[in-house]
Amino acid sequence: MTNKPLSLYFHFPFCVKKCAYCAFYSLQAQPEEIKNAYCGALEKQIGFLPREREIISVYFGGGTPSSLGAERLCKLIEKIKERCSLAPDCEITVEVNPGTAGESDFYALYAAGFNRISAGVQSANDETLAFLGRIHDFRQARECILAAKRAGFANIGADLIFALPGQSAEDFLHSIDSVCDLGVQHISAYSLQLEPGTPLYAKRGTLCFPDEEAEEAVYGALCARLKERGYEHYEISSFALPGFRARHNGVYWNRGEYLGIGAGAHSFYGGKRFSAPCDINAFIQKAGDSLFAPTDRETAPFITVAEAEEERVMLGLRTSDGAVVPPGARVKARRIAEAGFGVFDGERLVLNEKGFRVSNEIIAEVLI
Ligand code: SF4
Repeated sequence: MTNKPLSLYFHFPFCVKKCAYCAFYSLQAQPEEIKNAYCGALEKQIGFLPREREIISVYFGGGTPSSLGAERLCKLIEKIKERCSLAPDCEITVEVNPGTAGESDFYALYAAGFNRISAGVQSANDETLAFLGRIHDFRQARECILAAKRAGFANIGADLIFALPGQSAEDFLHSIDSVCDLGVQHISAYSLQLEPGTPLYAKRGTLCFPDEEAEEAVYGALCARLKERGYEHYEISSFALPGFRARHNGVYWNRGEYLGIGAGAHSFYGGKRFSAPCDINAFIQKAGDSLFAPTDRETAPFITVAEAEEERVMLGLRTSDGAVVPPGARVKARRIAEAGFGVFDGERLVLNEKGFRVSNEIIAEVLI
């Protein structure tokens, strides 16, 4: 076995109902036969996974993996364990949406080897949740997290959304405090993106979204509150108690290799980035042919040295580890640090909270 680490991502493009803001590839209210066929196709793909690589993280994401029920998910993780060499401390995450998993599901998931939950809480305000088209209220989100804890999960993350119409910094801090009070170890906080084709996008003319200044004020308030509560701000949108950074996401940010299995899943493997089309029927049809049959790997170009370097800088600057910047960009990096956006030691630029807020502009400047 080679110890070169590898991560696995499994995509579950099924949701009970589409949220008003969602542009991810996921289908609502699919029949059980489709879900069974899809899981069967995932099993076929698991049978092609490389045996010789050490798997350091497995992530079941979506969509709403928990909407398939614990039994299907546990069966898949068993197949993965049979086929692959999982590191003794392998992080195994499953995304759960409140209202789609009960206490017995969490017990089953924990017993099967899942050791991390990522819960789509989004807000502690029921009106906000209804506005977003979520299928749950905050009481259900609280129950979901407490049930996961009772089942043994000691590594739980919660996702939250900010920059919503009419949302004040106080409203959002209430959500932050509410999930912190539940004892979650990780929080991801994303600003709402209005995606064309979504119901929220269609209604955008009738809604009053916060301007840039108001959004920055909320971001500043959330960073300050989570720092007070002991969370490290280790990536633009990610905060963790010490020892609870998301290993799987770290693989993405550090350009580690990962295989994405399922319709719409992306991979970075063997020097290429490639993906499977967002088409569950095509995935089901091709999954039994070979590991890469459902993807565009064959035609995807190899990443050039220059592209790899760009990716390294771009991804690194989004994290609290920062990035060693190319020699030609070091004068700019020094100026960026002197302007108060981070720290530069002559080689590595590390952005601070002020820098994170304008990271796209800074990354563009460093990479020109
Ligand atoms: S639960 Fe997540 S993936 Fe599903 S519709 Fe809502 S935002 Fe999209």
